[in-house]
Amino acid sequence: MKLTILGCNGAIPAYGRFPTSQVLEINSKLYLIDCGEGAQILMQQFGVKIMKIEAVFISHMHGDHYFGLIGLLNTMSLLGRERLLEIFAPAGLEKIIRSQIDFALSYELHFVAHINNISTILINSEKLEVNNFPVQHSIPTHGFKFTLKYKKRVVNPDLVKQFEIPKYFLNSLADGKDYEPLHGEKILNEWVTSAGKADKTYAYCADTAYSELIIPYINSADLLYHESTYIDEDIDKATTRLHSTASQAATIALLAKVKRLIIGHYSSKYKDPLVLHQQAIKIFDATDYAEAGKSWDI
Ligand SMILES: [Zn+2]
Ligand SMILES: [Zn+2]
Repeated sequence: MKLTILGCNGAIPAYGRFPTSQVLEINSKLYLIDCGEGAQILMQQFGVKIMKIEAVFISHMHGDHYFGLIGLLNTMSLLGRERLLEIFAPAGLEKIIRSQIDFALSYELHFVAHINNISTILINSEKLEVNNFPVQHSIPTHGFKFTLKYKKRVVNPDLVKQFEIPKYFLNSLADGKDYEPLHGEKILNEWVTSAGKADKTYAYCADTAYSELIIPYINSADLLYHESTYIDEDIDKATTRLHSTASQAATIALLAKVKRLIIGHYSSKYKDPLVLHQQAIKIFDATDYAEAGKSWDI
């Protein structure tokens, strides 16, 4: 998986930073996470292929997370997209989008609505699982967790030969099954295979106040994006507006035992996000700060 940040600012664009949007690349497919104003401009700027977008995930109905969608959907149509596009979003988004796009697109849109305060599985394929989970914000909001599954075990060809296991059974061995010959002793899977790569997870917490309730959903993530709208000195603003400070984001990362944290969604009042970064690394030193065009391999 590879994450690329597009927009990393809060509600108002400032100092060349656009509102929130990012893309996650998984096996050559792109998953767009939030789509603030300017998302498609940033995609062009950083060579993100708009036509490779497989699905769109919108966290909540604040404009800085979806105002870029109309333009993007129209561009895909002008470029001749044919395959259906799934949009996982709050229930209210479909009406807004369909009322603005009162012309035929070259492809179908399929909206899947989040259920308030509930975590659900949005995608569950052989290789990928995507879940949404509720966070704490001023309106119903969901974060997203992407898990790249590496469930296959690694088969040892020499041992397979030694135990005379037929070739047709190799896939079943990789799936963890034991081999039972017609005659003779059962061959346990662990004798001829070893563990494959561990699953990889990316968790995106959208806009949220400090909330330890989200920890079970993001626990041990390889990479976590947690908003950090305010510096620690502005904690009162963070509390009233249901956003987080740099230290709060870092504390969640620490408690959830994630491997790496990215902070973002900066308030337009700060010229330099490095101030937020300096506060966060004091609590969780594996912290990076979001910046347009920056990528992380997971
Ligand atoms: Zn926001
Ligand atoms: Zn918001």
